[in-house]
Parts: sequence; structure tokens; C-alpha cells
Amino acid sequence: MKNMQGADIEKLDREFVWHPFTQMSDWEKERNILIERGEGVYLYDIYGNKYIDGVSSLWVNVHGHNNPELNSALKEQLDKISHSTLLGLANVPSAVLAEKLIEIAPKNLKKVFYSDSGSTSVEIAVKVAFQYFRQKGPAYKNKKKIIAATSAYHGDTLGSVSVGGIELFHSIYKPLLFETVRITYPYCYRCPFNLKHPDCGLYCAKEAEKIIKVHAEESCALIIEPMLQGASGMITMPAGYMKKIERACKDNGILLILDEVATGFGRTGEMFAAFHEDISPDAMCMAKGITGGYLPMAATLFTQEIYDGFLGNYQDNKTFFHGHTYTGNQLASACAVKSLEMFKKYGLLNKMKPVIARFNELLKDFGQLENIGDIRNIGLTAGIELVKDKETKEPFEAGKRIGHKVVLNARERGVIIRPLGDVVVVMPPLVIDESTLETLMSAIYDSVKAAVQN
Ligand SMILES: *Cc1c(COP(=O)(O)O)cnc(C)c1O
Repeated sequence: MKNMQGADIEKLDREFVWHPFTQMSDWEKERNILIERGEGVYLYDIYGNKYIDGVSSLWVNVHGHNNPELNSALKEQLDKISHSTLLGLANVPSAVLAEKLIEIAPKNLKKVFYSDSGSTSVEIAVKVAFQYFRQKGPAYKNKKKIIAATSAYHGDTLGSVSVGGIELFHSIYKPLLFETVRITYPYCYRCPFNLKHPDCGLYCAKEAEKIIKVHAEESCALIIEPMLQGASGMITMPAGYMKKIERACKDNGILLILDEVATGFGRTGEMFAAFHEDISPDAMCMAKGITGGYLPMAATLFTQEIYDGFLGNYQDNKTFFHGHTYTGNQLASACAVKSLEMFKKYGLLNKMKPVIARFNELLKDFGQLENIGDIRNIGLTAGIELVKDKETKEPFEAGKRIGHKVVLNARERGVIIRPLGDVVVVMPPLVIDESTLETLMSAIYDSVKAAVQN
């Protein structure tokens, strides 16, 4: 690999690699960036060009790239063992990590089921919720459906797509999906009920409460992205909505599954988004930031009550017959343990506070730009929605690919970002300092300005 030139590698990529969420006919035409290494909040391509990692390598990076402490934790584990199965065997780092996850999670969660991606963490939550009620007794035999939110994103496997609701990604697979009940995710900028927050009195939550009640007898669980719906366009929940949904689930005997895959591990300024409104879910999905952005890993946490519902004699067939090959992998676990230790050691959540305050100020400046429809942010993440007409909120023509233009402009200014349609996503590693954040935001500001001007 050592003597290969950039052009050779580009050729290999074009010839052999099919990229995720990518129109490959565009990819083949465009100039693509090949990343060779990383350092802190920066990515370097094979030609030595330096970029700020403005989306944390797709929402995962916490402590920066090539971090010496994470590296040495990994090397230490590497010299012991990289992987042995969790099926019928235990291992050291996955046990240590489980305790640490329970320690930082909402208090009622007691058990950790490992897997390897956000999608699988959702599959597990959904299957467990379904099986739990199958085993609970004949009185619950009708509880088979999952309630999910409109425009939700929970991953790309068929179960997680079933509970997803992004037309562009999901509609083609409809014949393969299971049926769900839908509540409306609040989207205040384009309110589905044509109301205005806060005068609406959280009408959307009242609607959701009704739906939950009507479908209580046939539904086993409700899954939702708390405080922030990610892939649908960084849509933030109005205060109080999540608490009302939690209440409605509890009152109607429906398990509440929080998908914290994007929001977990400090992203929203709290360790988990659940803490913004003191939510006690029955299950919680985590992935993305769990290893600090180093290795694929996921976990689904459950209450004691759910766990106990799977206990019995082997012949009772209450076993949860589910497990991915690399579940509880030692390298990923060791890395996640170190990452959590670093959260504590550096008081990262506290350290982020002034950075988040500065982030809020810098985002306000974007409001001056002609085509900024909405700016949504929580913690160290934001979505800036670009529109053709600020007054009418009319979007740009899809063919204009204005979000994509911003991304290309940003590259020229030393910044890597990835949009969601016409929503510019900003999600730097949690360790970013104020001055680098200022550089990042001013590059994005200029990139947006240049993109909307022609
Ligand atoms: C990214 C994401 C997923 C899927 O995670 P993968 O690791 O890509 O499978 C699920 N839910 C949410 C909220 C996400 O942001």
C-alpha cells in the first residue's frame, strides 16, 4: 500500500467501491476526497490537504481523531485479544463497559444487549418489545404493533426501515415492511397542523396522545428520536413534547423505546437527550458516539422488568434468539470504556458548555443571510434549513441541489460537511475549541452565501 499514488487509489475506489447513500454516476464524475489520516478535529487527504471534520465523520466522533489515549487503550487490548464471541462466553471489556453504560443511562435501565450498528440496536429493541408481550400472557396477545413517528430515521435494515418514515429513503421498500401506527413528529418551522408554537399549546402532543390511546390495545411499543430527529433534517422537539409522549406511553401500557443513536454520548449537551426532560424509557438504543467514533458498536439497554420477562426454563422458549457475530467485541468495548473514562476525566460535558454558548451566537449570524429559513440546534449540533423564499418558506427546486453546493464550497474552504437535502448539518467533534468552531462556522457561512448567490 505504501508506494501507491493518490491517482491509483482514486482509480481503485471508482472501479470497485459502491458508496452508501450516494448516486454513483455523480460520484464517478466528481472530484472525490480520499482521507488518509486524522488528527484531533481535522481530516487529511492523501495529498496532505487539511479539513475540519464538520460532521464528526457522520455524527460519531467525540474526542477527536487519532487520539493518543484511545489509541493506547486499543493497542493494549489488541495485545491481549481482538475478538472472542459473546455467545456462550463472557469477556473483560464488554462486562466493564456494561456497568459504565448502566451508570450513565437513565436510572431504570439495568441490562445491556450489545450489537454493532444503530440499525441493529433498533431491531433488537423492536424484537424484544414484541416478544416481551408475546410472553407476558394471553391478556396481551393483541399487542403486536409498533408506534413510530412521521419522518423518523432509525437505520437501514428492514425492521428499522419499517419504523422509519423518510419517503425518499423508505417508500420503495413498503411492500417488504411491517405495518406501524404513526404519530406526528413536531416540526415547528413547517407545522403539520399549521399552528404556531407556543400558541399551539403543543397540539401535536395532544394528537399523539389520542393516537397512543386509540391504539394502546394493539401496540407493544413506541419508538422515537428524543429531542432531535436527525436524518429527517435536524428537527428539534419543542420543550414538553417528549414528556407528554412518555406519560401517554406509561398511562397506556406501551413500552417507550428511545433511539439515542444520534443524540447519545454528549451530542445534545447532556450525556443522553433523555435527560433534557428526565425521561425514563423502557429501552434505549445507542451506537454512533459509543466508541468515541472509532469502531462500530451498539447497545440496547432494557429495564429489569423486560429482562425478567425472558427468564424461564429453556424449554419455555423465552430465550431471545438474537445475536450478531461481533456482538460485544473486545476492541470496540475497550475503546468505549476509555471514551467514557475520558468524558469524566476531562469533564467534557461541562467543558462543552461555553463552546455550545458560542455555537448559539455564531448560528444567530446566519439569520442575516437571505435564504436561511430556519436554524435548529441543540447542544453541539445544528441544522440550517435553506429556502428559496424566506417569507413563504418555499424550498429551492430539488434539482438545484443547493445543500450539495454548500458542501462543495465548504471543501474549498477546508471544511467537510454533509447535508440532508437543503438542510446544512453542523456537528463537529465534541472536543472542538471555540476558535476552531469560529473558523468552521465562518467557512460554512461563506459557503452558504456563495451557494445561494447563483
Ligand atoms: C444513524 C442512526 C441510526 C442507524 O445507525 P447505523 O449505525 O447507521 O445503523 C439509527 N437511528 C438514528 C437516530 C440514527 O441517527
